[in-house]
Amino acid sequence: MLNTEESIQFEYIEKLKEIVAGIEKRLNRKPTCQVTTFGCQMNARDSEKLLGVLKTIGFKETEADDADFVIYNTCTVRDNANQRVYGRLGALKPFKKNNPEMKIALCGCMTQEKSVIDKLRKSYNFVDLIFGTHNLFTFPELLYRMYTSDSQVCEIWNDTEVIAEQLPVDRKYFFKSGINIMFGCNNFCTYCIVPYVRGRERSRKPEEIIEEIERLADDGVVEIMLLGQNVNSYGKKLENPISFAELLRRVEQIDKIKRIRFMTSHPKDLSDELIEVMKNSKKICKHIHLPLQSGSSKILKAMNRCYDKETYIALANKIRREIPDISITTDIIVGFPGETLEDVKETIDVIEKVSFDNAFTFIYSKRTGTPAASMENQVDAATVKKHFDMVLTKVQETAKKQLGRFLGRTVVVLCEGTNEQDADLLDGRMSGNTIVHFPGDASMIGKFYNVKLTAFHGFYYDGEIVDKAGNDCG
Ligand code: SAM
Ligand code: SF4
Repeated sequence: MLNTEESIQFEYIEKLKEIVAGIEKRLNRKPTCQVTTFGCQMNARDSEKLLGVLKTIGFKETEADDADFVIYNTCTVRDNANQRVYGRLGALKPFKKNNPEMKIALCGCMTQEKSVIDKLRKSYNFVDLIFGTHNLFTFPELLYRMYTSDSQVCEIWNDTEVIAEQLPVDRKYFFKSGINIMFGCNNFCTYCIVPYVRGRERSRKPEEIIEEIERLADDGVVEIMLLGQNVNSYGKKLENPISFAELLRRVEQIDKIKRIRFMTSHPKDLSDELIEVMKNSKKICKHIHLPLQSGSSKILKAMNRCYDKETYIALANKIRREIPDISITTDIIVGFPGETLEDVKETIDVIEKVSFDNAFTFIYSKRTGTPAASMENQVDAATVKKHFDMVLTKVQETAKKQLGRFLGRTVVVLCEGTNEQDADLLDGRMSGNTIVHFPGDASMIGKFYNVKLTAFHGFYYDGEIVDKAGNDCG
C-alpha cells in the first residue's frame, strides 16, 4: 500500500502526463530525457527512480546531451566530481539556446552544499530545477513546479523522516537491482562529506525491505544488492532492533532470489554473526568490500575510523579463514593530512598482507566543512602523487596475483550482457565480482551458468560454458 507521500507524488505524475503530452504536441515527437549519474551505487539506484518517473510521464530516454530534459545526479565525495559537473553544465548552455523546450536539472549530494547552491544561483541561472538528496522522492512535485513556473525552482531539505520507495523505478538491468536498506551515515570519518549531505543514519524496516525484494523477484530479479553507507550497523536503532546478519537470513528465504550482495561494510562493525551467515549461505556472494582507507594506525585514528592496522588485518584474515575463496576489495585514500612516507609504507604492508582482490585508490580531496579540511598538516600535491603511484603499483601487483587464483576452475557466472567489443561474447560476473567473457547469445542474459575459466587477463577471465548452473549461485 502507498503511504501519504507516495500517493501525493502519484497525483503529480498524472498532472505531468498532461504537461508532457503538450510538449510532445509542440515538438511533434516524443520528448527525450537524459539522466546522468555521478558517484556510487546509491546514486545509481536514485537515478533509476528519476528515470522511472520521467518514462512514466512520457519521456523517451536518450544518451544525447541535447535532450529535452537533462538531469545530473551528482556526487561530491571528491572535488573532481564537482568540477566535472560544472564543466558539463556549461556545455549544455548552447543546446538550451537552440531548444526553448529544454529543461536542465541538478540533484544529488553536490546540491546539499551551500557553496554549490550559491555558485549555481550566481553563474548557472539557466539550470531550471535544483533539489537535494532528502527530497528526491518529491521529484514529480518539483517537476510540476518547474513546468508551471518561469523561474528557477530550487528546494533543498536538511533532513527528512520520510521513506518513499514505491514510486516508479526504471531498472537498468531486468535481472538485478540495488535496494536501499538504510540512508545516511553517523560515522563522521574526518575526511568525508557524506554525513553532511546524506544526513543521519536511518534504517528501513525489515518487512518493507523484504516486501520490496519479493516484488522485484516476482518481476524477474535474481540478484539483489543491499545498499547502505555502513550496512553493518543496519537495524540497530529500529523500534524492534535487528542485526544486518539477521536481515540477510530473511532475504535468503526469498526463493526466486539466487544471489545477494551488499555494500558497504565498515570494518569497525563487522560481526562474527555476519561472517557465520556468509559462510553458511548458498546465496550470499563470496565478496566483501571492506574499506581500509589507510594502513597506518596513526592516520586511521586521525580519520576517526575506530580500528587500527592490526585489527583490520586480523579481521581480513578471519574472513579469509572462515570463507575460503572470498574476494576482499577495499578503498584506500592517499594524502590524508599528516600522512608521511612511513604511513604510506604501512598501507603498502597491509596491501601485501591482505592481498586485496581489488582496491579503489583515491587521492585525498579536501572537503570544506569536514574536520580534515582545516587540519594544518595538509600534504603537498607532488608528495601525494608520488605516494599514490607507490600504492597503486602495489595494489595492481597483488590484485593480479590474487584474482588469477581461479584459473582452470569451473565457477558459477551470472550473464549480465553482450560484450561491447565482441557481439559474440557475453559478459558475466563471478560470485567474487570478477568479470568473465565467454561465447553466448543475448537469450542467456539474466541466467546462471557454470563456466570453465580458460584464460586470465589481469583483471578478467575468458571462459567456456560447461552447463546451466543449479541452485547454489552465491
Ligand atoms: N561508507 C563507505 C565506507 O565507509 O567505506 C564509503 C562511502 S564513500 C562514498 C566511498 C569512498 O570514497 C570511501 O571509502 C573513501 O575511500 C572515499 N572518500 C571519501 N571521502 C574522500 C575524500 N575526501 N577524499 C578522497 N576520497 C574520499
Ligand atoms: Fe563517509 Fe565514513 Fe560514513 Fe563511509 S562511514 S560514508 S567514509 S563518513
